[in-house]
Amino acid sequence: MNIEHSVHILLVDDRPENLLALESILGTMGHHLVKAHSGEEALRSLLKQDFAVILLDVQMPGIDGFETATLIRARGRSQHTPIIFLTALDSSDTNVFKGYSVGAVDFMFKPFMPDVLRFKVSVFVELFKQTAQIQQHAANLEARVQERTTDLTIANDSLRGEIRERERAERALRLLTDASSVLAASLDYDNTLQNIVQFIVPHFADLCVIDMLPDAGEPRRVVLAHTDSAQEATIYQIINAALPNGWNSSDPLIQGLQRGETQFVPLVSSERIAAYVAHAEQVALLQTLSFRSAICLPIQVDERTIGIMALLYSTSGRQYVEADVLLATELSRRVSLAIEHALLYRAKQQALSARDQFLSIASHELKTPITTILGYAQLLERRFTRLPNIEARNLNALHTLSDQCQRLDRLIRSLLDLSRIQTGQFTLDALPMDLTRLTRQIVDEIQPSLSEHVVTLASEEQPLLIHGDELRLAQVIHNLVQNAIKYSPDAGSIEVSVRANDSMVELVVRDQGLGIPAESLPQLFNRFFRASNVEPQVAGLGLGLYVVKQIVELHDGTIEVQSVEGVGSTFIVRIPSSLKSTLAVGAGRLDAIHSAQ
Ligand code: ADP
Repeated sequence: MNIEHSVHILLVDDRPENLLALESILGTMGHHLVKAHSGEEALRSLLKQDFAVILLDVQMPGIDGFETATLIRARGRSQHTPIIFLTALDSSDTNVFKGYSVGAVDFMFKPFMPDVLRFKVSVFVELFKQTAQIQQHAANLEARVQERTTDLTIANDSLRGEIRERERAERALRLLTDASSVLAASLDYDNTLQNIVQFIVPHFADLCVIDMLPDAGEPRRVVLAHTDSAQEATIYQIINAALPNGWNSSDPLIQGLQRGETQFVPLVSSERIAAYVAHAEQVALLQTLSFRSAICLPIQVDERTIGIMALLYSTSGRQYVEADVLLATELSRRVSLAIEHALLYRAKQQALSARDQFLSIASHELKTPITTILGYAQLLERRFTRLPNIEARNLNALHTLSDQCQRLDRLIRSLLDLSRIQTGQFTLDALPMDLTRLTRQIVDEIQPSLSEHVVTLASEEQPLLIHGDELRLAQVIHNLVQNAIKYSPDAGSIEVSVRANDSMVELVVRDQGLGIPAESLPQLFNRFFRASNVEPQVAGLGLGLYVVKQIVELHDGTIEVQSVEGVGSTFIVRIPSSLKSTLAVGAGRLDAIHSAQ
């Protein structure tokens, strides 16, 4: 607003000639002059606009100047408008006093000097302008404050929204992280299903149901958790009786789930529930649980829906929103993955158990005939060796027959050992024994059959007494020495030593053969494991060391290997020199073993 243009001056006088005189004096100042011929007219003008100053004649017919001033002051909007009284009366104190008491700011006595009048008017105009400017300024400020307040409110709202969004995202992330660790906790199929529903309630649902559909000979499986666990059995019965027939229905929700799409039901209605439930009384029962909101998710493996996970809010009064659907979908992906792992693990366990069962039956069934064949082969070998004139090629054939039978016998024994370990029937028959004597005996037996390798024994003179199963420990020594020979294809010497070390007896077998690659060392004692550098040049089953380790551990001992590929290997077995504990593996138990001392 331009203040210059808004300066109005009110001239009040009942005499037109006086108004004219005032007009001619003030007309040069460039302000709007508004004339009023009476107090009433002056008051009407004041209703229309504000004035910078009012020049008010005192003596007027009707309401005089003083009364007019009183009325002007009484009006809120004009109570501070400066009033200059114009009077022809004498300047008696009474009049002046009365004038000031009704709100005059000045008096001018007629005839007045034009310059003085202009000067006085200009002072009030200036005051008016400044006041108007200040008011304008204040209004501008007010508007800016208002604007900033609005901006701040908007910013606050959006900040609050962001904080809410961030908190939601943090909650979602926490839920997914926690879910991942819960899902990773077990590979067992039933445990996994149970863990999932238990985890989701009450964090993310009042009721969580997993319904694994019947598939490939697998029975249907319903697992659920509810915030009120007393309700679980009833809900289980209802759900168990509900869906299987409905799974082939044309219901859009079921169809969507079959296609692998998440189904969001923000508000659950009774009619909707009734559609999935078999009997009317079950509908009534479900209604008492007052479900409000639901998300149904497919559990998929290889893009095939193999189950459904339903999340429902009821008693808590909560309701799912769009953001929850995203979170639930992510959750169901992880659940699907965990279930897939659990199913794979179960299939693997089943396959392993079938294999173990086969191994057990096969090795037991083969053992008797092979023992008989080996016995007769060795018998024939001995008889024919004593015969004169036996053809060399026939003798060789018999040697080969006997060798291969022995190999087959060892193989079957290993398989039998494995199957015994797995069924918990691998036990020791421990008695006090001397490990030095046993080791020497085995080395003495092996050495004569070797043409390229030399096996040396370093041992202390005195016996090294332990409580052990002599046959099984012989198997350990045999295996380690035979391996040292087998994996030293370029011949070389094999050092065997036995000695006491604190409360332990130590058996060491060292060779300078192929050695073992560093990456194979951690798995060396696993069943069927063979290091990467031995195949295909050296045949084997990868069972010997596994069985050796079981035997050593049954003696409360340890076995370790140190090896550098291309340099050689050292196997160190440590067994307590006195065994006091009961030795057992799995279900098989040993008789109490008496102390060696
Ligand atoms: P197998 O000899 O029938 O393969 P083992 O269980 O006795 O089974 O041995 C497992 C693996 O350990 C072998 O395949 C071989 O890779 C490695 N190994 C065992 N003993 C030695 C050794 N003395 N030198 C090098 N590698 C060895």
